[in-house]
Amino acid sequence: LEAVVLAKRPDGSITPDVFATVERLWPAIKEGDVLTRTLFASVDPYMRGILNEGRTYREGLAVGDMIPGETVGQVIQSKHPAFREGAVVSGAFGWATVLATPGDRLVRVPDDVPPSTYLGVLGMPGTTAYSGMTDIGQPKAGETVVISAASGPVGATAGQIARRAGARVIGIAGSVEKCAWVTEIAGFDGCINHHENLDEQLDALCPDGVDVYYENVGGTVGQAVIRRLRNHARVPICGLVADYNDRDYSGLAHAPTISAAMLLFRRARIEGFIVGDRPERFAEWRALATPWVQEGSLVYKEQIVKGLDQAPLALVGQLSGQNFGKLLVQVADV
Ligand code: NDP
Repeated sequence: LEAVVLAKRPDGSITPDVFATVERLWPAIKEGDVLTRTLFASVDPYMRGILNEGRTYREGLAVGDMIPGETVGQVIQSKHPAFREGAVVSGAFGWATVLATPGDRLVRVPDDVPPSTYLGVLGMPGTTAYSGMTDIGQPKAGETVVISAASGPVGATAGQIARRAGARVIGIAGSVEKCAWVTEIAGFDGCINHHENLDEQLDALCPDGVDVYYENVGGTVGQAVIRRLRNHARVPICGLVADYNDRDYSGLAHAPTISAAMLLFRRARIEGFIVGDRPERFAEWRALATPWVQEGSLVYKEQIVKGLDQAPLALVGQLSGQNFGKLLVQVADV
């Protein structure tokens, strides 16, 4: 089998040679385990953080470790009563063509949704949007909600959740094409291309300020939105992609994008969260959102790259906005 591993520690912005594709022996499976052949492997921004030494919210990888991306795979051998050969499952982790996983960690992907959705809108990114927006953002009818990385799986889903709550939703994305998709297909009320006159566009689209800022990127985008918070604003801190390639991304060396004075004057609430801390949200979100996906009232965009060896280049591009939608690697034919 083939696996993608960390070949060397990166120094700042990553390049594909930080990774290597290696041959490995097929894993032996124990009682309770399931062997899957990978159909799709997920490419996610958090992967950049775990290439560094030390701890962010989780421990960094060691050189030689496999990249632990989530997959959707097909069962090729099972020693677990709940999974039969041929079933499609999610929950096996690793950029590899074949994976052995305890069956208790797997979830069956139903036949009536595209399997790739379990890595995007119905998977970890969708659940992240649901948890961050409902637990922390708490948008209300008539409020103004701003969402960065709005065409990605987290941002696009978060925005559609806020619109269902009756809020006015403004996205921020990195190109004209992304903004067109965000407004015309995902149904946001407006979208700002952050490469052009960010402040002017924010003033025009959010003249009365921002009630909820769903933070996916940090950097200059985050600072510009946070300056416009209204009284009692909520800011779920979901991700800070703009900083992930920094040499010193410890999370501590950065100047805060929000000052204590701002929090006080605006009576604002800012809260970081990690979706894995709320495991019950996954099944809850799938139950809620599956019918919406099936009827087309919750839309999503995917970008599918072919071949496991393309995963490193895909991740490099994602960190600078070259992806458009949920980034997946198709490892084998469905
Ligand atoms: P996306 O598909 O949205 O990819 C990341 C996007 O970030 C890029 O496409 C790009 O979009 C944008 N971006 C990159 N650099 C910058 C920059 N300097 N300034 C502004 N935007 C930038 O990713 P996801 O939807 O998968 O994830 C979105 C965020 O959610 C990430 O920060 C991720 O780490 C976080 N996350 C957090 C979780 C949690 O538990 N807290 C769980 C899952 C994800 P554009 O071209 O539009 O600028």
